[in-house]
Amino acid sequence: MDDWRLNRQKNDFSDQTLYKITFPDFWKTAYKHRNAFFQRIEQNAKKYVESSNSGHEFLEGERIQHFWHEHCTFCWEKALTDKECIFYCNGDMQHWVCEECFHDFKEKFNWEEKSAEDLPL
Ligand SMILES: [Zn+2]
Repeated sequence: MDDWRLNRQKNDFSDQTLYKITFPDFWKTAYKHRNAFFQRIEQNAKKYVESSNSGHEFLEGERIQHFWHEHCTFCWEKALTDKECIFYCNGDMQHWVCEECFHDFKEKFNWEEKSAEDLPL
């Protein structure tokens, strides 16, 4: 298979468990329960505001979500908390794969699919 999305070395992506994340629902739940995903964003936002002494308004309510975005590891499609999209992430939420790439490469990399509720947060 000759696919531009596979140009970079991605062997470390084999045999991973990936968790299906649906936005914006995942964010809504995170915000409501102030769960680990929310706290992660909050930490980064606070760090940014403290070090730059700007952007205080983003710490108010749901605007804090704009401190977070990720890209699909393969095609660079952007994941946002307020955009309707489905992404898959690994257990520590450091790597994200868009829905299309997930389905295209699922068998190649032998991924196991789990739901967001199973995330080890
Ligand atoms: Zn992708």
